[in-house]
Amino acid sequence: MITMSDDTEGGEDFDRLCPACGIANPKEFQQCMMCDKDLTQTILFIEDDFFDLELTKTELIEYRKNYYRTRRTGKVQHFQLDEMEDIDFESPGKRLSFNYNGKREVYPLKDENYMQLKLKIMELVNK
Ligand SMILES: [Zn+2]
Repeated sequence: MITMSDDTEGGEDFDRLCPACGIANPKEFQQCMMCDKDLTQTILFIEDDFFDLELTKTELIEYRKNYYRTRRTGKVQHFQLDEMEDIDFESPGKRLSFNYNGKREVYPLKDENYMQLKLKIMELVNK
């Protein structure tokens, strides 16, 4: 069963949907049955137009989507939270931007994703 469902607004189901491969796992599974990813590390998983984003305690992970926004390209970027500098949530515009290794990274986000990600990243970064 492969589902990349749109009903993740509440975030309650993220621990069953594997952020890495998109397989829906039974709730009690701690590791993805398909790719063995540790599912207990995921704090937030959001699906946006151009990418999916996963947040763990230590990392922001981007899964880039193709031009048509229908599939992932296979490009995955890992950003260590403690190495992200000048994190900015721009509003209006609803964009997350930050410096990483001297390069400015910018992520335009849907409204609901923007709010969720902002709250969670602020919690983690301000610890
Ligand atoms: Zn998986």
